Amino acid sequence: MIIMKFGGTSVANCEAITRAIDIIKGRLDEKPIVVVSALSKVTDLLYKLSDAAAAKNRIEVENLLEQLRTRHIALANELMANNSELCRAACSKVNAICDSLSNFVSAVCALGELSDRSKAVIISNGEYLSSNIICCALNARGIVTSYIDARSIIITSKDFLKGEPVNEEIIRRTPEIVSDAFNGADTVITQGFVSATPDGEPTVLGRGGSDYSASLIGMAVDAKRIEIWTDVDGVRTADPRRVKNTKCLDKISFEEAAEMAHFGAKVLHPLTIEPAVKKNIPLFVLNSMNPEGKGTAILQSSFIEDGVKSISCKENINVINIFSTKMINVSGFLKKVFEIFSENKVSVDLISTSEANISVTVDSGQNIDKVVKQLSEFADVIVDNDKSQISVIGKNIINLNGMLKNTFAPLRDCKIYMISQGASYVNISFVVDRSVLNPVMQEIHHYLFETEPGK
Ligand code: ADP
Ligand code: ASP
Ligand code: MG
Repeated sequence: MIIMKFGGTSVANCEAITRAIDIIKGRLDEKPIVVVSALSKVTDLLYKLSDAAAAKNRIEVENLLEQLRTRHIALANELMANNSELCRAACSKVNAICDSLSNFVSAVCALGELSDRSKAVIISNGEYLSSNIICCALNARGIVTSYIDARSIIITSKDFLKGEPVNEEIIRRTPEIVSDAFNGADTVITQGFVSATPDGEPTVLGRGGSDYSASLIGMAVDAKRIEIWTDVDGVRTADPRRVKNTKCLDKISFEEAAEMAHFGAKVLHPLTIEPAVKKNIPLFVLNSMNPEGKGTAILQSSFIEDGVKSISCKENINVINIFSTKMINVSGFLKKVFEIFSENKVSVDLISTSEANISVTVDSGQNIDKVVKQLSEFADVIVDNDKSQISVIGKNIINLNGMLKNTFAPLRDCKIYMISQGASYVNISFVVDRSVLNPVMQEIHHYLFETEPGK
């Protein structure tokens, strides 16, 4: 069995889905489990819809619901123009999903209150719409396709908007459900992103979570490989939307991919690698618009050479500086500080300490008000906004002569607020002003990947 995950742009419209179906068709002898995202931009629309409902903005709610229904009905008609029966089936699924969403959102609107649980229900609908339409479209092309509701296999904690997978349950349930679904079928389709608690309460895995779904399913069925089909030729030396002249990487290690994703490379959800590593399943990042391309293989470290592979960044982070003379010689101070982060579920990226100071970076999307308030009870706290974090990633980069010189040479004229090197020797990260992020990324890329090493 293999897993084939198609992201939003790879199922954006009739043309993209037709391409995806051709790719799936070429792999039927490997028993593909297809995992799909919502059509491009649909999850954003659903987030807007939940905000509009919470704000009791009925006009906006109606408008968004109408856009959602119209786009999916038009897509079903276009995809299945030659098969009226399956076209009707797909349209009636779309209408049923949109009707039930509309009722649900009306109730939220009436209350003007949106719980995390309700939000999880609303934002899951994009994947239900896309997977139902694509299931019918595959069948319409003669590929016998079964449908699995991801809520029956991807089991998580009750953190409704960022469910933590319960691996034992996923491994216990998935193989049997998948093998039943394959009975008489060429392929099986399910939703990315969507999950549920053991009692069936709806949850989701968080933004970009379809990659994670693919890898969890791969782990549960011992897949031969996991293919992540997206809109770039593979993992590159930097985000091509931010940096010019990036190059595609043939192969990188699990550790390098995990660090890249964790430190901001959107090409993979940060937790995607973990389940694959558990079973040593190779991952491939491939371009659905160029299916002949080799893409990038993500493999065990022993197959990967030392060297710098990529630069990632997080554009908008906060640096929290904690000053206290009590830190000196008082064991337990660090514990107290990090307990406050943990109690408030604020996750920390980089940490550096000096005699009377701790600096940490956190994603700006997190609410740090309570953390700052609690820390201020026993320390002076200064928060620096408008900062960006840059990470240079590669196996054993610590051993590379000239690497540090090449990384830091372009930084001559700009302030560096923090530097941190992970104990794994896979990454060096530092913090700069957000205003210089793009030129600095471009310069470092130039020094590391566009000139001869050591020059
Ligand atoms: P999908 O909808 O298929 O999940 P995403 O938009 O989530 O696609 O991820 C693909 C995007 O990741 C690319 O379009 C690219 O802009 C971005 N990206 C960030 N860093 C990298 C990188 N190092 N290599 C390739 N793509 C990257
Ligand atoms: N549709 C979800 C999102 O846009 C999940 C995904 O595409 O990975 O975040
Ligand atoms: Mg993605």
